Amino acid sequence: MSLLDGQTAVITGGSSGIGRGIAREFADHAAKAVIVADIQQAPKEGGPPTHEQIEQETDTQSTFVNCDVTNRADLETAVDTADEFGGIDVMVNNAGIWHPDDFLEVTEDDYRQLMAVNLEGTYFGSQIAAQRMVEHDGGSIINISSIAGLFGNGNWPTYSASKGGLTMLTYSLAHKLADDEIRVNAIHPGSIETKIAGDQETSPEQVAAMLEAIPLGRYGQPEEIGGAAVFLASELASYVTGESLVVDGGWTSWR
Ligand code: NAP
Repeated sequence: MSLLDGQTAVITGGSSGIGRGIAREFADHAAKAVIVADIQQAPKEGGPPTHEQIEQETDTQSTFVNCDVTNRADLETAVDTADEFGGIDVMVNNAGIWHPDDFLEVTEDDYRQLMAVNLEGTYFGSQIAAQRMVEHDGGSIINISSIAGLFGNGNWPTYSASKGGLTMLTYSLAHKLADDEIRVNAIHPGSIETKIAGDQETSPEQVAAMLEAIPLGRYGQPEEIGGAAVFLASELASYVTGESLVVDGGWTSWR
């Protein structure tokens, strides 16, 4: 299918997990080019680097750009790389980190690091992409939030605050940028099978409780977030902006 024919996308955190799933779905839907903007090339879950695999298996052009989203200059470089392929059409602010924390013990450094990646990285990634899109024919910005950006959770208050902020940023930018033909939407994944928690072990009891809570009875796969991102980036979503698309197997539908 060619839902993204001719489009050039920048995907932060595109080497691993959900970002990799989005990058691969974009290529499967005939995007012109995918720029993978991440700190390292090797996927945490194994396999060839995202950009190499896309180039080998599809007609989409793909390149890796070394980009730490907490560094504005890196974000500029990533977005400018899209100029080699006709300019940026889609910005996916996906890079993010997660860890549980005890609110009573959180240090300023821990707080700032998480906010810098999850919220500031998205804020300035959106700003830099929008500056280019305003000069061209508009575009689409997709922010990867979380169901934690819609509901509170005392087990990870800093993460929830970062993702809640990202949700409101999305709605605000949809309002601000609509006149420039820039659509801005958020995807809120539920529990997706990635290495975001590192090698942290989950007990069989925890897994069973989790799956019990998810009506579809399984974890989501990164490509399933990719499918939602393809939709939001495509013409099928031409009247969709300022929207929260929850992709969680029904987890939050009945709580
Ligand atoms: P992941 O497998 O850890 O992938 C995240 C990617 O982002 C990694 O390649 C990581 O690189 C990169 N990254 C981290 N910090 C970065 C930075 N400062 N600059 C550039 N890249 C950076 O995690 P994921 O599960 O795919 O998560 C992707 C997004 O989905 C995050 O925003 C996360 O909050 C959100 N999300 C995930 C879930 C889930 O269940 N997995 C649920 C809801 C929302 P390193 O490996 O070097 O850190």
